[in-house]
Amino acid sequence: MEIFDTHAHLCDERYNEDIDEVIARAQDAGVRRILLASAEMSDSEAAIRMAKSRNGQVELFCSVGVHPHSASDYNDRSHELLASWISDRVKKRIVAMGEIGLDYHYDFSPRDVQRAVFIRQLELACREDIPVIIHEREASSDMLSILNDFSKRGLLSKMPGVFHCYSGSAQTAQILVRMGFMLGFDGPVTFRNNKKVWEVLSSVPTDRILIETDCPYLTPEPFRGKRNEPAYITFVLSAIADYLGKTGEEMARITTENACRLFRL
Ligand SMILES: [Zn+2]
Repeated sequence: MEIFDTHAHLCDERYNEDIDEVIARAQDAGVRRILLASAEMSDSEAAIRMAKSRNGQVELFCSVGVHPHSASDYNDRSHELLASWISDRVKKRIVAMGEIGLDYHYDFSPRDVQRAVFIRQLELACREDIPVIIHEREASSDMLSILNDFSKRGLLSKMPGVFHCYSGSAQTAQILVRMGFMLGFDGPVTFRNNKKVWEVLSSVPTDRILIETDCPYLTPEPFRGKRNEPAYITFVLSAIADYLGKTGEEMARITTENACRLFRL
């Protein structure tokens, strides 16, 4: 098995005590690559440090960027720093920008600020030709209008990025797939009665599916309620494989190939 966990927050303090064991368990479960996703400037920096220093049997990569929750903290200094990291991305093991996006569920930052900060980071990603990891919650109409605008201006690449933890409709999924995006799936695919996610999964070509844990959040069954970790991605993998009538091995190969294509590995 060669599994790629494309979204893990291993710099979270909940792993301070046992990060070595967490990575060892991931390796035992068949995880070969992990993308450390970031949400703020401080954890972007921590992710770069971890990806560079802990790179062993399990290969670590990272993304840098500011989540819509923290959009209010974004300033010129953040922008310059992000730009400088990305221009040195190979040495820093950066393969994407994110999480960036819009979250109108929590509204932790004002919506106009979220939009402005998302657009600013997306422009940087387009200019630097690096894929984006998009977080979008209850903001699909503003999100699509921003992306359409970028697309009209010829700024979006053929494979612009991934909608991580995709929770939208099958209809929106179709639009995103046409734009070239991949969709990331995590723990909720293991929850019973999650009809919406199956509708999406059956409408999306398999070459657009990524798997992720989003750990320490979104823990799959049977560990729901506990801290999540990359080893538990096998539950996500087998839920999707079962649903699509494939073996876990096949699904691991497909999703790893998809991730390597997107992140250019
Ligand atoms: Zn995340």
